[in-house]
Amino acid sequence: MSSGGKRQVVGAVRRAFAPWNDPAATPLIRYESVTKAFGDFTAVNDVSLDIYEREFFTLLGPSGCGKTTLMRMLAGFDPPTKGRVTLAGKDIAGQPPHRLPVNMMFQSYALFPHMNVRRNVGFGLEMEGVKGGELDRRVDEMLALVKLEKFAHRKPDQLSGGQRQRVALARALAKKPKVLLLDEPLGALDKKLREETQYELMDLQVKLGMTFVIVTHDQDEAMAMSDRIAIMDTGRIVQVAAPGELYEQPSCRYVASFLGDVNLLECAVVQAADGQIELAATTPGVRLRVQDDRSFARDQTVWLAVRPEKVTIAHADSVAPGAAISNQIAGKIWDVGYLGDWTTYLVEVAPDTLMRVACANLSRFVERPISWEDPVVLSFAPAAGVLLTR
Ligand code: ATP
Repeated sequence: MSSGGKRQVVGAVRRAFAPWNDPAATPLIRYESVTKAFGDFTAVNDVSLDIYEREFFTLLGPSGCGKTTLMRMLAGFDPPTKGRVTLAGKDIAGQPPHRLPVNMMFQSYALFPHMNVRRNVGFGLEMEGVKGGELDRRVDEMLALVKLEKFAHRKPDQLSGGQRQRVALARALAKKPKVLLLDEPLGALDKKLREETQYELMDLQVKLGMTFVIVTHDQDEAMAMSDRIAIMDTGRIVQVAAPGELYEQPSCRYVASFLGDVNLLECAVVQAADGQIELAATTPGVRLRVQDDRSFARDQTVWLAVRPEKVTIAHADSVAPGAAISNQIAGKIWDVGYLGDWTTYLVEVAPDTLMRVACANLSRFVERPISWEDPVVLSFAPAAGVLLTR
């Protein structure tokens, strides 16, 4: 099949997949009020979470927030201190890890240095008693899957970081577990190989019909690959949603600022009626108007979260003051970052208050580029931002 045809198949499967919206769907994995303490330190704090069969699920959060601990409980390595984790309705605690239909690929890969690639990939199968032609066939299949056929006879220290990563992946996939846990699976790869491998992983997951739970620090990777993402903070899950929903409808400032860049404008509600909210920003002189159907009290403190790419920027002398655009904020360019595809501007809108704007570089030549110190006007539509109450 051509790669275009393959993506269509993957796309069709992934587009239609949303069992978490189906009240009749039963989750494959359930964390029920799970707490994990190490001595008097609580690493995972009262987490309840459902993950569905064939889901590509990502745990995302800063270092030390409890992602690996959550995953290790699912692999059967550590029992919860409180609560329980079930897989297909059965409590994981008490089942030996090697009996669980779960495999974990570790951050460190944990390859056997004295074995070649072939033997590393086949190790788990051999332990299960698979041998002879059947073993060869399954190892060949895995090597082809991760495109390592040519390296089958090399030892791990004769491979690049990316190749070692693929060996670890092939070894984790070889037993065709129901659930594959991947801790920072693409950490050692450079940007380009990382992107390619992301798509390969997504294809593999659909092709093999497995449930993937991955841990990553990398928000772009999480956004690109996952059906849903759980954002964690100090042992708790703050929000679980599909990538687009998390980005456009964050539940709080923590999620809004963890995922991508965001401008958070602290405001007081001046008036709220018929889905139109008028706000007075703490930035002096800035009045804003946004759309939101929820009810708000007068003077309530809220934060307007506006993504940099939803703000437009223009030279101050090219914008008629108070023109039809609802939200205008004047400022001065503080910094410009040219990234090739995008240019980002940091704009000082009040002393010590910066807003970030990102503009796609759609043409190769700009008649009057915006530069350091230029007075500018930022504007955004009433529906561009989301109002946050915490
Ligand atoms: P990273 O992204 O850096 O891998 P993480 O989110 O996966 O971090 P965990 O490895 O789950 O974080 O660790 C969560 C917290 O629990 C950390 O503060 C860690 O130091 C602590 N922790 C983990 N394992 C143990 C242990 N065996 N004994 C004591 N504390 C532990």
